[in-house]
Amino acid sequence: MGFNPEDIRADFPILQTKVYGKPLVYLDNAATTQKPKSVVDTICGNYYAQNANIHRGVHFLSQRATEAHEEARKTVQKFLNAKSAREVIFTRGTTEAVNLVASSFGKAFCKEGDEIVVSQMEHHSNIVPWQILQSDRGVSLKVIPFDEKGVLQVDKLNDLLTERTKLVAVAHVSNTLGTVNPVKEIVRMAHERGIPVLVDGAQSVPHMKVDVQDIDADFYVFSGHKIYGPTGIGALYGKEEWLDKLPPYQGGGEMIKNVSFEKTTFNELPFKFEAGTPDYIGSTALAEAIRYVEAIGMDNIARHEQALLKYATEKLSQIENIRFIGEAENKSGLVSFLVGDIHPYDLGAILDKLGIAVRTGHHCAEPVMKAFGIEGTVRASFGIYNTLEEIDILAAGVERAARMFRR
Ligand code: PMP
Repeated sequence: MGFNPEDIRADFPILQTKVYGKPLVYLDNAATTQKPKSVVDTICGNYYAQNANIHRGVHFLSQRATEAHEEARKTVQKFLNAKSAREVIFTRGTTEAVNLVASSFGKAFCKEGDEIVVSQMEHHSNIVPWQILQSDRGVSLKVIPFDEKGVLQVDKLNDLLTERTKLVAVAHVSNTLGTVNPVKEIVRMAHERGIPVLVDGAQSVPHMKVDVQDIDADFYVFSGHKIYGPTGIGALYGKEEWLDKLPPYQGGGEMIKNVSFEKTTFNELPFKFEAGTPDYIGSTALAEAIRYVEAIGMDNIARHEQALLKYATEKLSQIENIRFIGEAENKSGLVSFLVGDIHPYDLGAILDKLGIAVRTGHHCAEPVMKAFGIEGTVRASFGIYNTLEEIDILAAGVERAARMFRR
């Protein structure tokens, strides 16, 4: 597998938790990941040793905190292979990053009758901000459908792109189906018509090597808490030429050059989009999380999680009446499923009693549920510390629950 998950588990104190006397089996990584000690230590260390508001201070602590925050930006830049640190805007996470683009891009470029293309498998956070733009600006949404296996029908994209299309917004990896979308191809198709693309990388960045220049995305967004970093911090990558053209998202301190009651001028990138005191503790902890996964190696992580996916799919397939939701060839490490007519919530509640943490419900992707004619699924999503033994425990737990309901 390229590395030993047992060594990695030792870095995550929470994995020693007992749930109802049983060892915790944490399979809810698509919702959020656990944090290694080094990330938690970075947060504590910053508060203990170098807490001061950044950018504006001449004093020692402020300079130190500023350097750490700007170093963190460079860490994100290198991690995504962005051309410049000016192209990395810290946000609260994926959701805020999409809202930033929808709001600023919408103000600058969208008018009544324009169109935004999204996919049928988007998380609500890559649908609702565009719907807000719909009511604010009168744009309409067009949707790339997926097939019965949960594979995006990219060949339909050409018909959806028109001279009114202003932007395409699509997930790199579906949080519900696990499908890895051919974002490079989608970008190429959109760019042929001069249309920019936003890629939601919430479920890709933690699990595979992402190179924004190679994908050629105009905007790429992700959340720190899904990549073993803290909550409340994430990033928007945007090509400089686009970010330069967008108006600020929020007004306040730091995002300005000069303020008077007659005229205010805005700061340069990236500060133009970072109003107020930024989460400089979160940014440095996110950088530590990135160093942590890079030390393991993104290719090793991808290989490990693919092995877990393959094993989980084989094991769970043996369960009578199991139905997988999302059967794309190219999948990330998660399985969404239903067993017979057992309600996902009931299945999840039984698994919980066995110490197994899975997510149940619509996973903030109601259009996916609608397409399959279901209310929800059970989702087990894998991370770097999961093991084949944990998959055995999951499969045994699902089998046990299924037997209880068969009776
Ligand atoms: N997009 C996708 C694909 C996601 O999986 C999630 C989180 N479930 C989000 C967006 C939203 O991320 P956040 O809540 O961290 O802003």
